[in-house]
Amino acid sequence: MADPDCIFCKIVAGEIPATIVEQDERTIAFMDISPATRGHVLVIPREHATDVHAINPEDLAAVALTAQRVAAKALRNLGAAGVNLLNSNGPAAWQTVFHFHMHVIPRYDDDPLRLPWVPAAGDMDEIAAAGEQLRGDGG
Ligand code: AMP
Ligand code: ZN
Repeated sequence: MADPDCIFCKIVAGEIPATIVEQDERTIAFMDISPATRGHVLVIPREHATDVHAINPEDLAAVALTAQRVAAKALRNLGAAGVNLLNSNGPAAWQTVFHFHMHVIPRYDDDPLRLPWVPAAGDMDEIAAAGEQLRGDGG
């Protein structure tokens, strides 16, 4: 059931914009607006669940499979050398949006990212370009 106060439920409902790179019956993957590295994606279940403790097993499995597909595209389409999959549960673990999400963070040789990263607003045109490249549209 959608939570009317949840920003990611609003993305699922199409009420606020997102650059979607993958989706299926249970999940949506979209570009993070404050990317830790180029091509940073969030994978979420369509159905609201706050965290790993609340999500149903089928949605958890579906998120993992979508994250695996996005991770493969990060290597193939963005030239990433590696990928971090990261999921935070609870404020003590850095969770700030309380709709379960898996970060898919492409890693590049010698990139400067160190965890935890400090989010900073990204360049929307560059984020959209990275999303298009990640999707592999047009070859
Ligand atoms: P966490 O700290 O693990 O809860 O991650 C929340 C993530 O959501 C952060 O990386 C934010 O940059 C990202 N985020 C918040 N609002 C939006 C939005 N409207 N569209 C895309 N990403 C978002
Ligand atoms: Zn939600």
